[in-house]
Amino acid sequence: MPSPTNDGYNVPGDMTIFTTCPAVVFTDLDGCLLDHHDYDHLPAKPARSRLKELGIPLIPVTSKTAAEIRALDIDFGSVPLISENGMVIDLPPHLFSSPHDKGGPIFAGKPYNEILAFLQTLPASLRASINGFHDMSAAEIAAVTGLKDVDAVRAKARQASEPFLWQGDEAGIAELSALATANGFKLTQGGRFYHLLSEGGKDWAVNWVIDHLKLIRPELLRTDLIRPDRPFHTIALGDSANDKAMLASVDYGIIIPNPGGSGLVISDASGRIIRAPHVGPRGWNAAIMGLLDELDLDTLASTK
Ligand SMILES: [Mg+2]
Repeated sequence: MPSPTNDGYNVPGDMTIFTTCPAVVFTDLDGCLLDHHDYDHLPAKPARSRLKELGIPLIPVTSKTAAEIRALDIDFGSVPLISENGMVIDLPPHLFSSPHDKGGPIFAGKPYNEILAFLQTLPASLRASINGFHDMSAAEIAAVTGLKDVDAVRAKARQASEPFLWQGDEAGIAELSALATANGFKLTQGGRFYHLLSEGGKDWAVNWVIDHLKLIRPELLRTDLIRPDRPFHTIALGDSANDKAMLASVDYGIIIPNPGGSGLVISDASGRIIRAPHVGPRGWNAAIMGLLDELDLDTLASTK
């Protein structure tokens, strides 16, 4: 997996909020910032506005593709986009590692063309049982997912993971899983779809971004340089099992409850775990408002 490198990094003259921000917030989207049913995010707007006023970046971390994130009616600003369950990080140009960095997505593992190449090496009987997003037209994806055609096109714009329907038997999926592992991939199952992808995850991507930000904030790496007037808190919000490792790895992991469910249990957190008082964007808003009050970042911002 790639690591951030500090090869001649220079902070550009137009460097943004990342050099001084007192916190960074990572958020899952579906069932979290976006309502589980109607994708409404307006209930979270007051907290999002407050983050913006404080210069705190809000970074999406989602199973969606980057194309799907960009199509949302939410302006995340010039921040990294973490898509396909942490397999892909798109950095804005001002956060490139060095003046020589040409940009392009950062992959936790293997890019999409290598995933497709692996599929072509499979025995014909296994390959015939896989009906992946690459195999389907956008209209077919729309039909099996319930997405609109225009959204299916964006969901099909994969960069590092392949969702597929399995049309074989249990012995076949076990054989596929073994072949995937032997070739540096893994299978995960979510709802009707299996996903073929590399090792990695939302927590890997979040920690990569945090490490990357530390390159431009030397005081975050050197304890003798930590300044009380320039704190740096890491915060993440999520509602599902695939958010657990991310929530466990930050300073403040906020669990958004599932409708009708008891919510996640996280026993290995490195920071503090907070339970939002409501589901979806309403809970998101209340939890962020409460944490900002507690951290007293407004006062800090006003005294700068
Ligand atoms: Mg979710």
